[in-house]
Amino acid sequence: MPVTAPPDEELDVLRRQDPEIADVLLGEVRRQSDSLQLIAAENFTSPAVLAALGSPLANKYAEGYPGARHHGGCEFADAAERIAVERATSLFGAEHANVQSHSGSSAVLAAYAALLRPGDTVLAMGLSHGGHLTHGSPANFSGRWFEFVPYGVDAESGLVDYEQVAALARHHRPKAIVCGSICYPRHLDYAIFREIADEVGAYLIADAAHPIGLVAGGVAPSPVPYADVVCATTHKVLRGPRGGMLLCGGDLAGRVDRAVFPFTQGGAQMHTIAAKAVAFGEAASPSFAAYTHRVVAHARLLAGALAAEGFAITTGGTDTHLITADPAPLGVDGRTARMRLAAAGMVLDTCALPYGDGRGIRLGTAAVTTQGMGAPEMARIAALFSIALRDDPEETARVRAEVREMARRFPPYGP
Ligand SMILES: *Cc1c(COP(=O)(O)O)cnc(C)c1O
Repeated sequence: MPVTAPPDEELDVLRRQDPEIADVLLGEVRRQSDSLQLIAAENFTSPAVLAALGSPLANKYAEGYPGARHHGGCEFADAAERIAVERATSLFGAEHANVQSHSGSSAVLAAYAALLRPGDTVLAMGLSHGGHLTHGSPANFSGRWFEFVPYGVDAESGLVDYEQVAALARHHRPKAIVCGSICYPRHLDYAIFREIADEVGAYLIADAAHPIGLVAGGVAPSPVPYADVVCATTHKVLRGPRGGMLLCGGDLAGRVDRAVFPFTQGGAQMHTIAAKAVAFGEAASPSFAAYTHRVVAHARLLAGALAAEGFAITTGGTDTHLITADPAPLGVDGRTARMRLAAAGMVLDTCALPYGDGRGIRLGTAAVTTQGMGAPEMARIAALFSIALRDDPEETARVRAEVREMARRFPPYGP
């Protein structure tokens, strides 16, 4: 099986009992094996992470924290969580880690719950400029319960306008400033954010959901020394199970822990926490650091190659795994581009363009790099993009076949 699939015996059990769902799982394995996963937030977890996720720890109820649970029989759950916390604090040089957040959004919710009260003013990147739903969307709890003031990126450079951030902070006196984005391809200057927060007496919350894996690999600056609370996911470049975590200083540890449980969550998902521990262990290895360097090098190559094909690359390039681009010069908008690329087996997202009318495309190199693809594949992918966008059925079919062949040539973690 090209992509990490459930072991044969487990699949057999499922196929016998529930062929309908077994078919769904196999269909997804096939989809992942013969198309290109270019969604910036996705990656392939290792078989060890999947083994922990599929383990009987999934059966265990464990409300509370190690040594202080509301359920019996938690000795192994406690061990899993202690190991996960130790590995996270040492990996990121943080005084405290909470590894129970069910997702990145839950981690942000907990950070707000730890530091804010409903009605407080929060300064965050506007959604059309790259902010996440939890940064003040009216469709999300954040926009309903807090007064968000949006900052943005410069129209010319596409870079965060730190002078605007400072001016808005002085004017609105927010209780917290959030730095972090779903599509900003450059490093953030956490020291400047800290300075601005200190000047107006605000907390600094870093939502590092995307770059935290690069931070672990030493290829992106760490928000940990600067932010009061760092929120993150464990499933993006970090390559762990779907989930969230929080990092903070010892002074806020109790508030952050209480904000996760019992304020915003119930029982911890111990199988996921064990899988997070496995991923933190992997991320501490020299081979993971080398992986993150390749991820960034590949994103730079791919961005350059896409620019050569005519795409307008936001900020002119990338420091990270992430590329955002406007395909308008090729005569299509982001939605059409996503559709045509998907028809050719290349899966990615659209994204808001702060100053354009249409939408752009957002993609990343974390998954294809885990598969072992390299510089020649990045160049080829850019070429295949522009062929697929022409929307010629015969050419698209040829690209689809080449994509299938390329994806199968690079099975993650195998053989
Ligand atoms: C991915 C992401 C999140 C949310 O993560 P989920 O696990 O999907 O809830 C939050 N903030 C930012 C900046 C993100 O990129």
